[in-house]
Amino acid sequence: MSDAAQLVSLWTLFATAPELLFLRLGAAFVLGSILASFVTLCAERHAQGHSFVRPGSHCSHCHHPLTILQLVPVAGWLLQGGRCAFCKTPIPWRYPVLEAGLGLVFLALCSRWGWTPAFLVHVPVLCLLLWLALTDWLTLRLPDKITFLALGCVLAGKTLLVLTGPESLSLAGLLKAWAFWLGTGALAALFLLVMGRVLSRRAGREALGLGDVKLGLVLGTLLEEDVFVSLALASVLALLAARLGLPGWAGQRKASEQAEQAEQAGAPEETRIPDQAEASAQTKASGQTRASDQPQASGQPQTTVVAFGPCLVLGALCTLAARALMP
Ligand SMILES: [Zn+2]
Repeated sequence: MSDAAQLVSLWTLFATAPELLFLRLGAAFVLGSILASFVTLCAERHAQGHSFVRPGSHCSHCHHPLTILQLVPVAGWLLQGGRCAFCKTPIPWRYPVLEAGLGLVFLALCSRWGWTPAFLVHVPVLCLLLWLALTDWLTLRLPDKITFLALGCVLAGKTLLVLTGPESLSLAGLLKAWAFWLGTGALAALFLLVMGRVLSRRAGREALGLGDVKLGLVLGTLLEEDVFVSLALASVLALLAARLGLPGWAGQRKASEQAEQAEQAGAPEETRIPDQAEASAQTKASGQTRASDQPQASGQPQTTVVAFGPCLVLGALCTLAARALMP
């Protein structure tokens, strides 16, 4: 038997043997957590304009290079007790949460489809969605290049599945499928566009950017009719995030910068701080809220701007996982 044939038979054994079910699920979790760790590193370095490869992984505070064991997803963070082993600076909780989270989503998808093309086509898409969520979290921006690369991956993956599926599809059938996928994507984008316009008008400033609208196009194309479940979930998550005032959120920095700028410009009080009616309107759907429930050190109420991208992506991941786990 040639090497290639041996590899194929090994793969077939791994992908189909009933006694290897837990190995398959475990491998899916490990793949998801490793990719989450890699994507987090790339997205952060990209956001800061640093190289992806140099320097190697290191503590962002003391710059000490990390050992192989410290780099193991989730376990590395737990082994160090959530602090750098060298300088004891806390390591952000988002690392183990994202690694475990993407691992669990991969596990859910694999439990449905096994290691088949239906599972594998999701891998690049989910990595790009995580990249977008992180970039939005860190910078309040959703880069078009990555959004459209994700859309391309969704369309290529779905086309591949249809073409290799049991039913042979004519060109007309394929075009119809494309129209349906992009149609649900366009509907989701339109929904976000209208919602953004309404909220922006009420808030007197941009409440939901065009980046979110384009991300809606990707999610609608990916999830089809389930995208509306995911949008509803995203709105609830944005509300929760705004209420909880999660630490490390770029919106908090932006909000305090805005307040500072307004103060420097000598703007009257009422133009700097939205009134209660506006604040509650913002809270409802845009993911912006007045964080006046939490007393500020200065005694001044502040506006927390919540990036909607991470909520959209989290809503979509939960929807995908739930769909995969349903009987
Ligand atoms: Zn350190």
